[in-house]
Amino acid sequence: MFKLSKKLQDLPPYLFVEIDKAKRNAKQEGRDIIDLGVGDPDQPTPAHIIDRLYQAARDPSTHRYALDQGLSGLRKAIAQWSERRFNVKLDPETEILPLIGSKEGIAHFPLAFLNGGDYSLVPDPCYPPYKGGTILAGGKPYIMPLKEENAFLPDLKKIPLNILRKAKLVYINYPNNPTASIAERDFYTDVVKFATKNKIIVISDLAYSEIAYDGYRPSSFLEVEGAKDLGIEFHSLSKTYNMTGWRIGWASGNAQLVSALAKVKSNIDSGIFSAIQLAGITALEGPQQHIKDICQLYQERRNTLIAGLQSLGWQVTVPKATFYVWLKIPKKTDSIKFSTLLLEKADIVVTPGVGFGKYGEGYIRMALTISKERIQEAVERLRRIL
Ligand SMILES: *Cc1c(COP(=O)(O)O)cnc(C)c1O
Repeated sequence: MFKLSKKLQDLPPYLFVEIDKAKRNAKQEGRDIIDLGVGDPDQPTPAHIIDRLYQAARDPSTHRYALDQGLSGLRKAIAQWSERRFNVKLDPETEILPLIGSKEGIAHFPLAFLNGGDYSLVPDPCYPPYKGGTILAGGKPYIMPLKEENAFLPDLKKIPLNILRKAKLVYINYPNNPTASIAERDFYTDVVKFATKNKIIVISDLAYSEIAYDGYRPSSFLEVEGAKDLGIEFHSLSKTYNMTGWRIGWASGNAQLVSALAKVKSNIDSGIFSAIQLAGITALEGPQQHIKDICQLYQERRNTLIAGLQSLGWQVTVPKATFYVWLKIPKKTDSIKFSTLLLEKADIVVTPGVGFGKYGEGYIRMALTISKERIQEAVERLRRIL
């Protein structure tokens, strides 16, 4: 009866809704589902952060509208964290903006810079809000394929000139969801050169900066010289502190980009619950041991899964970061069919690669957010059906 807007019609379907539905149905039938699908930490938020929320929530001064630009204490804590972690200096007054989860900021950012018909350069496969945010802002995603032979880095030299002229934004995301690939500093240096030459804003999504293995420490795009002249980086407390449900993250980088996002948001939301911001300060400033612990936990699970898949004769790349394993599937099938087969025959949920874009076809993503025992059980079920 009602006609959806052109923009909404143009949005790709949000894949995880479909997966969740199929999974719920299977559960309703009473089947014992092993869920390697959704990338959401299974461990609880550390207790000292929860305690701070309790205490802050009892203080009536946290009950009112929060400031749009976030608490200055949170912005200062973010600046100090960024300097400690990456040696990147940020002005808490102008170069940092707390967000209601980084997805919120990532999806709203294109509203600040795209006009109808402008392009965003979007990696494919990718985290869905890069395309979604672009389309909702009236822009067009231009797909940069992430291919295994290029270590899942985009080939910036392949983008045609007529596209570059109309491109306003480029998205990069390393450590990467869904491919679990990483970027070295050389890549960031190339991105700065490319973006400077073509006058394109760089959006770096660093949600997995702390989830890394074997001694690897991801770097920030903003570490590279010149990056702050044209870049904005999105960070999240979600994966680092097991706080996905809390909705808190931030944007940092170029002051003009940060203030433009703040202007968009001032018309849409009214800030993060102050008690959550205070708990966020505790997360960033409190003991960090738990990060080592969860990385250790994911690393053991990763090793279990990889060893299991290898014992099935599967070729796997061992991820150095994120809690995902990106797996090539047999050539004769496609990722939806293969995922459906795993659900129907083995009661295993995985995410079909095509859900992240057409260059994700031929792959599935498994998330390391279940116990080692369940991962072992999943491998045994795979052994039975393959
Ligand atoms: C999980 C994730 C985020 C973080 O989302 P929040 O909104 O901060 O919870 C951002 N980018 C990618 C690629 C992710 O996987």
